[in-house]
Amino acid sequence: MLENLQEQPKDKILALMEMFRADPRAEKIDLGVGVYRNAQGVTPIMRAVKAAEKTLWETEETKAYTGLAGDPAFAEAMRGLVLGDAVEAGRVAAAATPGGTGAIRQGLELIRLASPGATIWLSAPTWPNHPSIIRYLGMPMREYRYFDAAARGVDFEGMMADLAQAKPGDVVLLHGCCHNPTGANLTLPQWQEVAALLEKTGATPFIDIAYQGFGDGLEEDAAGTRLIAARLPETIIAASCSKNFGIYRERTGILMAVAENAARKPVVQGNLAFLNRQNFSFPPDHGARLVTMILNDAALRADWQAELEEMRLGMLRIREALAAELRRLSGSDRFGFIAQHRGMFSLIGASPEQVELMREKHGIYMVGDSRINIAGLTEAAVPKLAAAIIDAGV
Ligand code: PMP
Repeated sequence: MLENLQEQPKDKILALMEMFRADPRAEKIDLGVGVYRNAQGVTPIMRAVKAAEKTLWETEETKAYTGLAGDPAFAEAMRGLVLGDAVEAGRVAAAATPGGTGAIRQGLELIRLASPGATIWLSAPTWPNHPSIIRYLGMPMREYRYFDAAARGVDFEGMMADLAQAKPGDVVLLHGCCHNPTGANLTLPQWQEVAALLEKTGATPFIDIAYQGFGDGLEEDAAGTRLIAARLPETIIAASCSKNFGIYRERTGILMAVAENAARKPVVQGNLAFLNRQNFSFPPDHGARLVTMILNDAALRADWQAELEEMRLGMLRIREALAAELRRLSGSDRFGFIAQHRGMFSLIGASPEQVELMREKHGIYMVGDSRINIAGLTEAAVPKLAAAIIDAGV
């Protein structure tokens, strides 16, 4: 039987990591994989996470199963973090999942149950795992224009024109903040316009929010999601705790489905639990428990927010330093977009040949579409990257 298996395409980012590891040059720079790193190049365990883990170790009395949808306290804490008071709690069904990826997968399966044949609309470009999972599930998908490659900003006119073609029952996948891979995001007035268009077409929003707190701040980064959820009858949300709590390997995420009214919530909730049961039964609990402890304890929460803010501001400083150095070297403002983008990533608009040149000549590793991970840079490495970008003729 196993001889029938065919080789799967290699994940490009993981292949890039292998190449980076094999490169003997000491001054090489890894801007590939999407993991936050501090000025020392380390992905730290956040202080509040360590503190919560210590308390948990001392006080946890059982490792028995939680519920199929995870601990309701986690769902409640995450509803508050992501949605604030945008919608009534009684309308929000939620289930813990293995990471944000698990939430996306379960969300897509929920959509397939509720609206078989629904087309999923994806931004061009998007995180490659979105189309990969959708294809694997056999669901129809279409792209909407999103990135204006010349301006390195959102092609809002193109986006609106494409999404006007969505049909009732279709689903529009939106990045809640810190768009991956482009770094270009909607303004609040643009979110309003998208909400109005969704209302008009009858398409359902599915929001992937994986970087809340990495862009303009915890509240600011959730503003688009809240606006959509408050205005549309139904919203599906996949949230990840991997980045903003730095608990990547704990696999902590949540799928939330805002139902049209509280009466409809129990059936939605039952379907979320059913889908968890089919795929993995009980979701992982360790990371979810830490997140719940942090969000529900004033001191831990304040310390977590302070550290998250340090991380966010550090990335912004790097963005500004890189944009300034490129302004100096190029004598133009054409790299100003790097300081405008938000989150861990920016698509710098280099060709595959230029990306290869930067890798081979300068030991700078970025994904083939020229996505750079800002958190992979240190302030000391900024001049080297800027010089390489200019040398490659970007
Ligand atoms: N959505 C986007 C856009 C992402 O970039 C990521 C992480 N790379 C995720 C979701 C999910 O991350 P995880 O499964 O690690 O929580």
